[in-house]
Amino acid sequence: MSTFKAPKGTYDLIPPASATYLAVRDAIATPLRRSGYGYIETPGFENVELFARGVGESTDIVTKEMYTLTTKGGDELALRPEGTASVLRAALEANLHKAGSLPVKLWYSGSYYRYERPQKGRYRHFSQVGAEAIGAEDPALDAELIILAHDAYRSLGLRNFRILLNSLGDAECRPVYRAALQDFLRGLDLDEDTRRRIDINPLRVLDDKRDAVQKQLAGAPLLRDYLCDGCREYHARVRELITAQGVVFEDDVKLVRGLDYYTRTTFEFVHDGLGSQSAVGGGGRYDGLSEMIGGPALPSVGWALGVDRTVLALEAEGVRLDLPDATSVFAVPLGEEARKVLFGLVGELRKEGVAADFAYGGKGLKAAMKAANRSGARYAIVAGERDLAEGVVQLKDMESGEQESVPLTKIVTTIQSKLG
Ligand code: AMP
Repeated sequence: MSTFKAPKGTYDLIPPASATYLAVRDAIATPLRRSGYGYIETPGFENVELFARGVGESTDIVTKEMYTLTTKGGDELALRPEGTASVLRAALEANLHKAGSLPVKLWYSGSYYRYERPQKGRYRHFSQVGAEAIGAEDPALDAELIILAHDAYRSLGLRNFRILLNSLGDAECRPVYRAALQDFLRGLDLDEDTRRRIDINPLRVLDDKRDAVQKQLAGAPLLRDYLCDGCREYHARVRELITAQGVVFEDDVKLVRGLDYYTRTTFEFVHDGLGSQSAVGGGGRYDGLSEMIGGPALPSVGWALGVDRTVLALEAEGVRLDLPDATSVFAVPLGEEARKVLFGLVGELRKEGVAADFAYGGKGLKAAMKAANRSGARYAIVAGERDLAEGVVQLKDMESGEQESVPLTKIVTTIQSKLG
């Protein structure tokens, strides 16, 4: 072991488990790719002000959880705690909203950083795949995103997840609700910290996980009862559209989520096998965010799904993904001449798209066969001087143990047809 360990709250993705993470990212991206979403990649850090304004000065993410740094040049940067603000910043900077028709549909995949108290499912470095549809107000777009996330989870074989849905209102009706909620909250018996929250971000108080607080919230006014006609109709359309595609959801009138920028549609995907960190993904509409970061009015909607927690959800449900073999063929040369020939053959197989590996390090037959076994290869190719003199190699089926002699000139096609 080296003197160093991965920093607290982080872990390394190593084979073979890492293959599952790649497959999860791919499964989430696949429905997006066939729905008109283009891939975007932004830097791992941004100007700290982007998140302060975009995510919200009063959120835990900004006040407590950001990794911030001052560069030698005096720039104030933050490791990105989430994707939406960066993606919107990049889209505005590249004028994507002016370049073609709206919405601009983008997807991304990457690392995010939050200084949180580590526990199972909550890390300081984690991975998300996200999607944003920028510049259109259309219930069908909200519905599309919810359906695509649902399809992604289903394609992975997950069953025990639930979709929670709510509307957070808009600039017209939310302030009225906010004032009513503040009135109600001020009459409760709450600690100093929570009282302060009533002034800055009263909706977040609804999110408080403590029993003593939740008990007092029983009679709290609900945003549902304050929605303006526009928001109510919009929400009804979203519900209708996802229901029509057979996607089941639950209305959660208290769902507010931890970021300030959400308006109207808000949703979360939760998995019941994960304990306290049950949210596997979430998102919603953020009609005001573009203006908050200095852009034009661009009503938008998006989500981010957590890769780490999706993998935990697969484990909780006992789902094993059908992953392609890392190695299909493993070459075991006996002697110098055979090393040259089989090394060339491995190159040829790879060019033909066959996953092939080689017994490196001059191993003897026994150690080389052990390596072939460990690699998970379906077939081993073994050849020594006598085989080569006859123009053949031995092809060993690693499952049945059967071995046959195959002419060197036919080995590539033979393997291809055997692997189908
Ligand atoms: P959020 O931006 O907080 O809505 O997060 C979206 C998704 O990212 C969550 O549903 C989680 O799956 C994942 N996520 C957020 N924070 C963490 C974390 N600290 N560790 C692992 N996954 C996280």
